[in-house]
Amino acid sequence: ATERTALFMFFGGTGDLAYRKLYPSLFNLYRKGSLRTHFAVIGTSRQTLDDDKFRAAVKKSLADSGNRADSKEASDFISHFYYQAHDVTDTAHYSVLKDAAEKLDKKYKLQGNRIFYLSMAPQFFGTIAQDLKTQGLMSKNKDAFNRLVIEKPFGRDFDSAKQLNDALSKSFKEEQIFRIDHYLGKEMIQNIEALRFGNTLVESLWNNRYIDNIQVTLSEKLGVEERASYYDNSGALRDMVQNHIMQIVSLLAMEQPVAFTDTDIRAEKVKALRSLRVYNVADAATNFVRGQYGSIDNQPDYRHEDNVPTDSTTETFVAGKLLFDNYRWSGTPFYVRTGKMLADKFTRVDVVFKRPLVDIFAFPQSQNTPLAANVLTIFVEPHAGFSLQLNAKTNDATFSTEPIKLDYLVDAEKSKETPEPYERLLHDVLKGDGTNFSSWPEVSYAWKFVDQIRRVWDLQAPNFPNYTPHSMGPAAAEELIQRDHREWVYRL
Ligand code: NAD
Repeated sequence: ATERTALFMFFGGTGDLAYRKLYPSLFNLYRKGSLRTHFAVIGTSRQTLDDDKFRAAVKKSLADSGNRADSKEASDFISHFYYQAHDVTDTAHYSVLKDAAEKLDKKYKLQGNRIFYLSMAPQFFGTIAQDLKTQGLMSKNKDAFNRLVIEKPFGRDFDSAKQLNDALSKSFKEEQIFRIDHYLGKEMIQNIEALRFGNTLVESLWNNRYIDNIQVTLSEKLGVEERASYYDNSGALRDMVQNHIMQIVSLLAMEQPVAFTDTDIRAEKVKALRSLRVYNVADAATNFVRGQYGSIDNQPDYRHEDNVPTDSTTETFVAGKLLFDNYRWSGTPFYVRTGKMLADKFTRVDVVFKRPLVDIFAFPQSQNTPLAANVLTIFVEPHAGFSLQLNAKTNDATFSTEPIKLDYLVDAEKSKETPEPYERLLHDVLKGDGTNFSSWPEVSYAWKFVDQIRRVWDLQAPNFPNYTPHSMGPAAAEELIQRDHREWVYRL
């Protein structure tokens, strides 16, 4: 791999995300050679630590993620880590970070390249971005880069997202801002583009003439666990639909980009999102349903989880129908659903093709069952692969047909080598490639769509809880699709 040169500054550098994902991902980049001699890491947070204690924690984080943390390679890597205690709300104190950055820049010959990674509560993003600029932490070297990486959530509605974006834009230009959506770092989500634009067979049928509907399911098996205080203020619509699902849908719906570059891909995703129909009150109420899980055996229902108010109306499940008003998709709905405490943990996309216009095997005396629809499934996780359901003749003397499947599953050995989303995304940031990050226009159109659903939901208290744990959500999610004479491809 090409060696990259940069100083990383992690705000929230002692947090769960940093230890669990970010440092192990950086270590993988180091092992593969994208980072070698010319990089340094400053971890910063409110905690008082010294370099040695911080390095010990980083070492533990490598070990916990399955690395040999006592190897020479690991200790060389860890020697590039430094710690600086700092309260992000204390403007005066940024000068300490500035001095540390300049010292490390000289020591490791970093050429002024800086990556500021905000891995902490979003309420601080605006202040940090502003102080980075006013306190002189951004490198002034003309040939150097300054990049800002931020975690989700990006606002809780369009207005707050815009406020946040306005604050960030005072210091960073859009092309310097990398908004993480870790679904975009997943192998099979990136594979959507290869599948579509690398195959005549697929792309020539990828429209409303041949596709009946597309289904996107992000299913979680666990309940809210220890994230309740955040989750209860957010809910499934904001936490999963506004970002991950909208990103997946826009990759499925977009036109072919002029070239495979971040600018061209973003332009097409934005165009797709602009033709997504924003519902009026009545349509929002019919086309989206919500749910909250009840209790089973000795497990508490959502309202009795730790840190959840007993009268919470937060949805832990959402299903909806999305309609694009454009030439390619008019009449072909996208059904989406996501929730906690469902039957299994998986993410998949099912593309359901139209049945043949004439079923010649269904003549009057025929015993044959009607032809099934062709279904192309993209398995995102836990197993990665594709499956294509076709109709074929049964292997016997009569003439009957049955659905068969052409399956391609990435084998277990190979998927072990698949880089973690955060490794890919950090590598993209080092390269300055924004393809797998959400741009502001994408985020803003997604919020405008989601806000409209939220607005309707806020008008009326839901009848919660309404679904049994380990099911696929409330009955209303079935009715939503059955009303259109269709069914979910993945069902229990
Ligand atoms: P965390 O609570 O574990 O860590 C927060 C960090 O911020 C700590 O290092 C803390 O010391 C520091 N901090 C808090 N207030 C500070 C202040 N005033 N000044 C300086 N430092 C301060 O959080 P986390 O789980 O690591 O999540 C970080 C971000 O990533 C959040 O925006 C979260 O929404 C997002 N995120 C986390 C995960 C995850 O798996 N943990 C997944 C997706 C997104």
